[in-house]
Amino acid sequence: MTTHTGDSLYEKLKHVKVGSNICQFSLDKCNKIAPIINEINELKRKKNAIILGHSYISPEIILGVADYVGDSYELSKKAKESNADTIIFAAVKFMAETAKLLNPSKKVFVPSSHNGCSLADSITKAQVQQLKRHYPDYTFVCYINTTTAVKSECDVCVTSSNVYDIIGKIDNPKIYFLPDKLMALNVIEYAHQHYPHKTIKYWDGTCYVHEEYDSDMIKYLKSEHPNLLVLAHPECSPNVTKASDFVGSTSQMINHVKDTNAESYFMLTECGLTSRVQLELPQKKFIGSCTMCQFMKSNSLKDIRDTLLHYPKEKEITIPQNEQRNALECINEMFRYVNTIPTASL
Ligand code: 13P
Ligand code: SF4
Repeated sequence: MTTHTGDSLYEKLKHVKVGSNICQFSLDKCNKIAPIINEINELKRKKNAIILGHSYISPEIILGVADYVGDSYELSKKAKESNADTIIFAAVKFMAETAKLLNPSKKVFVPSSHNGCSLADSITKAQVQQLKRHYPDYTFVCYINTTTAVKSECDVCVTSSNVYDIIGKIDNPKIYFLPDKLMALNVIEYAHQHYPHKTIKYWDGTCYVHEEYDSDMIKYLKSEHPNLLVLAHPECSPNVTKASDFVGSTSQMINHVKDTNAESYFMLTECGLTSRVQLELPQKKFIGSCTMCQFMKSNSLKDIRDTLLHYPKEKEITIPQNEQRNALECINEMFRYVNTIPTASL
């Protein structure tokens, strides 16, 4: 087990430059956080716990204590494979619920108490039931950013890394996609070329972080930085994704940065992703400002330490018995599709 010092943390964290001041690190700040990082790592070992973290969380959690960092799909796979007794899911509640559904016998906690998501909270189970009465012959596809209750009413779950493929593979030409309207519009654009016989209806939810971006910003930055490579998440509007050079999930965006050699990069997604890549690839240059997800960023080292120490009941994920089977089936259906289809290149 690595013991961290202020110096060893600072050596890496000093490269994080795009981000608000809560994501900037001085040697003094690193000296202050080193002891709690070491304490968390010791607690994990004693309690046979692992920490899974989404790429949007704060850089000191990614660098200091997370055992695995990834996008929603990768994290759900890691949760499925885990041998730990306890999973601390440093992200938002719907992701921790997915981990619990896949590991019913394990304790799963989300450290932050402010763990919602503007997409997951945009639709309720009762609204899905009403839609199903309205569109009885449609296949209901939900983005992973949904509650367990909503998943329990849907046929198949998708993530940003497989949405284009899975919708293409579903036999039924009538698809209802929820809750992300902007992702649905991106899929519809893609469908025009790749599966034009499909009718795709959609719900009106949005991610409050990704809906902020517009294509004028891309035009302006491209004129200022001629060799700029722009990457966008499919939760951005089609105007933005069309003006970008690459579209993909957070991990697909990271891989594209690794595989290319542009003079500078602009990542249109929560700024934690840029912080993460700056940690891993300090030689690459990034431009842009910070658009932050308050829910992801509300996980703190202190919350993680206290969760490991006390296993607080109010932070433990529990799934209502009557939703368990259907929600799990909806997620497993995604794994079945992924295992039988090649990955799309956009
Ligand atoms: P990814 O699955 O691409 O990491 O996206 C999750 C998310 O919440 C994006 O806002
Ligand atoms: Fe939800 Fe948007 Fe935050 Fe992702 S960035 S967790 S979609 S609010």
